[in-house]
Amino acid sequence: MGTPRSYQTQAIIIKQSKLGELDKIITFYTPEFGKLKAVAKGACRPGSKLGGNVELLTHSVIMLAKGRNLDIVTQSQTINAFPVLKNDLWRTSCGLYVLELIDSFTLENNENRPLFDLLLDTLHRLCQDDNSETVLRYFELHLLHYLGYRPQLQQCVICNLPIKQTVNFFSSNQGGVLCPHCGQEMPEGHFLSVDALKILRLWQSCDYATARRVKIGAKLRSELEKVIQEYIKYILQRDIKSIAWLKELKKKSLVDNNNGTD
Ligand SMILES: [Zn+2]
Repeated sequence: MGTPRSYQTQAIIIKQSKLGELDKIITFYTPEFGKLKAVAKGACRPGSKLGGNVELLTHSVIMLAKGRNLDIVTQSQTINAFPVLKNDLWRTSCGLYVLELIDSFTLENNENRPLFDLLLDTLHRLCQDDNSETVLRYFELHLLHYLGYRPQLQQCVICNLPIKQTVNFFSSNQGGVLCPHCGQEMPEGHFLSVDALKILRLWQSCDYATARRVKIGAKLRSELEKVIQEYIKYILQRDIKSIAWLKELKKKSLVDNNNGTD
């Protein structure tokens, strides 16, 4: 018996790169195998049917054949190409950020079904929901949870005392909240407002329908973004490339909006 020579799986295309003139190496995220790399032969050929079905930000069913090194994509059928996501620069950029995080945090052949579901749900939410910031923060927090990096928000990570509703500190390298006393002694901690703590705790434990109902002002939104993204950067020990691009786009849209109202 052994492993079958060909197999089928659902997959979301998270990365692609050229291999020689005509082929592509595609990185998929799948429910059964986690991250999976495979070769799509002829995918760079103009009009290739396979090529169209293995574009980034696409949910597909793929057939694979066992290869000596990398497996080979033999057939692919699109379940959802997410046109709403792809026809809007901001939504596309948010989607690519999500893919970059999935790729950066995962290893090949490491099944994580909840993470696959979170990824798929997040792509749908980016299509349906105009509040992309909440979609992204909710995604980041739950990604961290499913990968074993859930930030500790209930007790001080140093002295273990319950965290009170006051201005506390957050430390990325301690992985959670520090009480005011411990926070003062830790130079790397940042202030964490009462509201930010409340929202992080809520989002960590509630479903998305509840999370999206919370109304958040611009200042708090940027505090939440900063806390979570700095923690992510600390874990990965490097910058996430698409963050700089998202910031650039946001700046540009603020300028455009101001010009529009003058
Ligand atoms: Zn403490």
